[in-house]
Amino acid sequence: MTISQAAKNVCKVSTLATSKQETVNSIDKKVYIIGSDFAIKSQASLAAVTSYRVGGPAEWYAAPRNLAALEASVKYAKEHDLTVTILGAGSNLLVSDRGISGLVIATRHLRHSHFDPQTGRLTVAAGESIPSLAWQAADLGWEGLEWAVGIPGTVGGAVVMNAGAHSSCVANMLVSAEVLSPDGTLEIVTPDQLGYAYRTSLLQGSDRIVTQATFQLKPGADPALVVAATKQHKQHRLTTQPYNFPSCGSVFRNPKPHSAGWLIEQTGLKGYQIGGAQVAQLHANFIVNRGGAKANDIFGLIRHIQQRVQDRWSILLEPEVKMIGDFQPV
Ligand SMILES: Cc1cc2nc3c(=O)[nH]c(=O)nc-3n(C[C@H](O)[C@H](O)[C@H](O)COP(=O)(O)OP(=O)(O)OC[C@H]3O[C@@H](n4cnc5c(N)ncnc54)[C@H](O)[C@@H]3O)c2cc1C
Repeated sequence: MTISQAAKNVCKVSTLATSKQETVNSIDKKVYIIGSDFAIKSQASLAAVTSYRVGGPAEWYAAPRNLAALEASVKYAKEHDLTVTILGAGSNLLVSDRGISGLVIATRHLRHSHFDPQTGRLTVAAGESIPSLAWQAADLGWEGLEWAVGIPGTVGGAVVMNAGAHSSCVANMLVSAEVLSPDGTLEIVTPDQLGYAYRTSLLQGSDRIVTQATFQLKPGADPALVVAATKQHKQHRLTTQPYNFPSCGSVFRNPKPHSAGWLIEQTGLKGYQIGGAQVAQLHANFIVNRGGAKANDIFGLIRHIQQRVQDRWSILLEPEVKMIGDFQPV
């Protein structure tokens, strides 16, 4: 529906607070911010936009396609005193069956990318897909992103999570990131300001939103060789990890020197299932949705694994997956 079509359906709804900047469409429960080209939806499914394919709705949901719309979403949340939750590709999230209150802002539609051959730097919007960038870099003969091809997230999520694989990670190649604060300030931050460590950064749990990032790559290689290395990484993933069922990738951080997968496998939990959630046969640090899983099945399985591994090894596995919303105690 276009904004002008939508405008025909617009009416005031007394139960929703509106300001002069907004109109409310009572038919499909959208709030249109006047002066911007997007709507904030009510009760939007989050199962549809997260890799686990589970979870309840967002009370409010915005998917801005440009910085102005993102800023308007943040302003809307502030004016209406809504808690903000940020979503990239939703590939590291477990959303509660009860959904999320407040405003969920998805940054996956923020798109632009620029490969600068002079500097070897890649500047990309937060919503760009990491695997797609890895293939584009490979086709150009730029080295540095081969390792990332199997990580099905966005640039924003990768910067926040310090995503990594095959002994490389975002912290090793990030030059800077642009972040938006709730007060509307845009700031450029460098890796040394982000407290990077294994799969973590100071952006986790903060209220700042990554809008774009610049990575240092190495141009000038033979594209055929970079493509071959990228394919090899992808193939390795496909043979060692269960990409055929919905998941969030590794559920637990590796409690070095051990690997979480090894500990879970040695505890005899491969194949263990609660409802539609199962410890993957191919890789024990993956919980897969075998079909019809509830978020609470996955949550229950996470707690069960933690308990069993702690009983056997006296190690408390720490989830890498971000669990958001309310979960029923198991
Ligand atoms: C099959 C599979 C394989 C995987 N393999 C790997 C792997 O090898 N290595 C690895 O590190 N991860 C892996 N993952 C996990 C996941 O892909 C990464 O953590 C990824 O970086 C998450 O990106 P995302 O865009 O999906 O973020 P989301 O899952 O949407 O969000 C993750 C966190 O980042 C925050 N966030 C997202 N975007 C922004 C933004 N723009 N601004 C501020 N905060 C933001 C969210 O609020 C949340 O806290 C895998 C997942 C799957 C499903």
